[in-house]
Amino acid sequence: MSQFHKTMMRKEKEKDQSFVQKENAIVDGIDISGHWNRMYEPRELTSYDTSGLDALRDIPGAESIGWCYQCAQCIGVCPVDNVGDYGPRKIFRKLQTGLNILDSADLWQCTTCMNCLRVCPKEVDMIKIMPAAREKAILDGNEVPAELQEMFQNTAEYGNPMGESARKRTKWAKKLDVDVRDLSKNPEAVDVLWFVGDYYAYHGRGNDAASAMARVFSRLGVDFGTLGAEEKCDGDSQRLAGEKGLFEMMAEHNIEQFNSQEFNKLVVSGPHAYNAIKNEYPKMGGTYNVEHYTQFLSAMIDKLKPLMVNSFDKKVTFHDPCYLGRHNGEYDAPRALLNAVPGIEFGEMFRCKEQGYCCGGGGGGMWLDGFMSDNINERLSENRVKEAIAVGAEVLAVCCPYEVSRFEDAVKSTGNEGKLEVLDIIEIIDRCM
Ligand code: SF4
Ligand code: SF4
Repeated sequence: MSQFHKTMMRKEKEKDQSFVQKENAIVDGIDISGHWNRMYEPRELTSYDTSGLDALRDIPGAESIGWCYQCAQCIGVCPVDNVGDYGPRKIFRKLQTGLNILDSADLWQCTTCMNCLRVCPKEVDMIKIMPAAREKAILDGNEVPAELQEMFQNTAEYGNPMGESARKRTKWAKKLDVDVRDLSKNPEAVDVLWFVGDYYAYHGRGNDAASAMARVFSRLGVDFGTLGAEEKCDGDSQRLAGEKGLFEMMAEHNIEQFNSQEFNKLVVSGPHAYNAIKNEYPKMGGTYNVEHYTQFLSAMIDKLKPLMVNSFDKKVTFHDPCYLGRHNGEYDAPRALLNAVPGIEFGEMFRCKEQGYCCGGGGGGMWLDGFMSDNINERLSENRVKEAIAVGAEVLAVCCPYEVSRFEDAVKSTGNEGKLEVLDIIEIIDRCM
């Protein structure tokens, strides 16, 4: 009889016998005595204060923080850790040792870029955890960074983060020789309702891109109009920064406006508006056929190409916006447009597409640069600008209205003025026409 069968028979015999714990154990002639072979009382961890972890885990939406098993995959890809000391694994460890995140600077540093979720084997979802925790902190009356608080107040009062009056929303269009129809004043059926967005409407460099868009639409013969002064902020950054109530206020208003117009397609200038209208507005009853402008134009590339008659002889690289790329899976449309530009020499950065590096503007980060300077060594936008320079680019192309101003500041603060130009893709197309 083999040794295996003997062992099995012995085990069968022992089945009915109660367990006996012994100091020494000889099994099949092998001495397996030792500490590791002892039975222990159920262990209780008494050296940790887990109240912080429990408190976060108990917030609806934040449950997945408890699933972390500390593999550290997230740390290598977290853009904030890249310039500081952050990432889900580190947050989890701090929570295990008593951190109350609702009262901590760590609450506001995540940009909701989604890079950690991409690699996390346990699906610890910071895109849900952080907005839920921020919302709780706000409702509890905890301190909110002053810059963010100001943005919330401006949005509530004026319908945009800058605190500009609604009347000025269409000022940029008045200087153009292209007709930008204001459907809030003269409602009429259009093919495309263009959701212009706050930065295009109010920021100086955004105005340049908005003007370029109007000219390109016009040359392509697009039948388009806007909501004029009736457009309000899409609200997505407010939602991600924890102000769900404000988001709902903005969304309700915009949905009401959309529903009062007749159009086939909604085209948006920015990835944040795209994300809000595509993924969040339907939860509030507003479902639309929405496209980011790069998607809309790339579908018309055959019509667009012959109109681009001027050559753009520059080395260009492209920054993937987190909310167009990782969050909504669109990597091809911006590249299709750039590759159609005559004369362009296009090259990728090291971190691109799914692995794209965040500019720091998402999840409310757009309004937290001052706050973040106390917590990180370098702004994320500065880190990105250095990468664009490292790959030899002369132009950093973007397609998110937050990014032109963010990267232009970073070009200056890293001493690269004159070496790198930051342009919205729509500006490049416009220059070629
Ligand atoms: S990748 Fe996920 S499981 Fe691994 S340490 Fe990070 S959060 Fe935890
Ligand atoms: S979502 Fe982005 S910024 Fe936030 S923890 Fe994950 S990788 Fe870091």
